[in-house]
Amino acid sequence: MKDITKSQIPNQQTIQILFASFTWLIYLLFVPYVYVQLKIFSLFFIIFPGVYLFCWLAVFMHECWHEYLSSIHNKFFYLLLSWMMFLDHQVFSIAHPSHHSQVNTYKDIEFHPLGKIKNHLLRVIYNFCEIILGNIFTVILATYTITHQPQLKKQYSHQQLIISILMRMMIWGGIGYSSHLIFQVTTAQIVIPYVITCWMGSLAVHHSELIEHGNLIIEGKLEERNLKTRNLKPSGIWERLFLFITHNHSLEHSLHHVSPKIYNRPFAYANMMPDETVYISFGEYLIILKEMLTGKF
Ligand SMILES: [Zn+2]
Ligand SMILES: [Zn+2]
Repeated sequence: MKDITKSQIPNQQTIQILFASFTWLIYLLFVPYVYVQLKIFSLFFIIFPGVYLFCWLAVFMHECWHEYLSSIHNKFFYLLLSWMMFLDHQVFSIAHPSHHSQVNTYKDIEFHPLGKIKNHLLRVIYNFCEIILGNIFTVILATYTITHQPQLKKQYSHQQLIISILMRMMIWGGIGYSSHLIFQVTTAQIVIPYVITCWMGSLAVHHSELIEHGNLIIEGKLEERNLKTRNLKPSGIWERLFLFITHNHSLEHSLHHVSPKIYNRPFAYANMMPDETVYISFGEYLIILKEMLTGKF
């Protein structure tokens, strides 16, 4: 078990969050130029550092929402990271509490924004879209549910939506325009690598979440449902590579549900996992994907 002092945790994470944010902006500045120069081979650059940085921002955004980082202004960084990932900050903020209280049920609006889909064909189509589009698909549907359900609608502010649109336009438009001025790239040469990065990042984040919760509908108390959350076993090269790119998101995710007050994600193997903890490999995850694509769930 690693010895982590209280002073080390915030300092290391503060440096990392600042480094990840700054490097992401530099990446967005350079990726259109790399795309023009390397064409199809720019995919390697998009995966690393692009998707790697996208996943890093995603885990930090989630951690700022939980206010895990004691030495920074969590609310400010939560907003900034949301906009840097081209997200409306209100959606995750409204949906995430249900991911904790209703985990592994159809009432979790972050994971199952449309609830249970009874029609078999529609369920297969829904699962297919979720698998090939990732979080882009679930976030759009969660936005729809939040803005249409009377109870959730009350929490959603159109004024905040306008702020988030303006901030996203400033960040993405500002960096894209700077890239145009420096490298003489066209609008399409800017937008295409940005869209590919967001799509691949959205896939990496969502497949982490599907490893943890995909096809997992449990009836029972919160404690029982938390414990059934799955974790990725770092047994092979592909599992280790995936955990590296996604910053160990699914390595000990069940602990995040069992003890949400513990900031565990960056400190792998520092906490004891419960005896009943569920681990799966990529091979077992493929069976889950197959069940989703045949509409079993
Ligand atoms: Zn959480
Ligand atoms: Zn979860």
